[in-house]
Amino acid sequence: MQRQKGACLICGEPLVYLKQAEMMKCSFCGKEEPSYAKCGAGHYVCDECHARQGIESIMRYCAAAAGRDPIAMLTDMMNDPYIHMHGPEHHTMVGAALMTAYRNAGGDIDLTACLAEMKKRGARCPGGSCGFWGCCGAAVSAGMCMSIITGTTPLSGKTWGTANITTARALEAIGRIGGPRCCKRDSFTAVIEAAKLIKAELGTALDMPPRVTCAFSAENKQCLGKNCPYFQGKTE
Ligand SMILES: [Zn+2]
Ligand SMILES: [Zn+2]
Repeated sequence: MQRQKGACLICGEPLVYLKQAEMMKCSFCGKEEPSYAKCGAGHYVCDECHARQGIESIMRYCAAAAGRDPIAMLTDMMNDPYIHMHGPEHHTMVGAALMTAYRNAGGDIDLTACLAEMKKRGARCPGGSCGFWGCCGAAVSAGMCMSIITGTTPLSGKTWGTANITTARALEAIGRIGGPRCCKRDSFTAVIEAAKLIKAELGTALDMPPRVTCAFSAENKQCLGKNCPYFQGKTE
């Protein structure tokens, strides 16, 4: 399912939903496969191309971003029509937002190289790892970011510990809220925990909003509603 319902990603024409699957040709790669949705002008984008476009959107956004608030960056990227409500693109997005905010807040890194590495590593963490591995990809993405910005390898000392602690803190916070999974909630939580460690361990303060509020609740059939810490309208 695409986030931007009812509009073609190629031309903006309304989408047409069919009762029976038809063979469609992907407007990007030319692959033909059965699908239930196309636009009025006949455009169709296959899942693989949709995912690749999503990752490209993340990379393009971060390369140009000047902000220091990783939550605001996440929200911007989540609004991109190529980013699904849930999906493994969040495993790249979390770390990309963090390292971009870190560089913009004064962190001494080669952002272009770090983003390229984040793209490679994030792609290796599959969708559903939260439920199937007991290890949410948003938390792993935060750990990958800490590893990348500190140049950590398996042979590193202190930063080896910090990278593992980053994943652990994010995972703990994500686990305590409980399921079902929400890639928005888990991404916000991972970023909040990682930002604390970036400040404590690397001495760089990212801009964080006083309260994180989610704009995607209506699109998530499994939203925890008032039991989610980021649900808008929560009174506390
Ligand atoms: Zn179209
Ligand atoms: Zn395609």
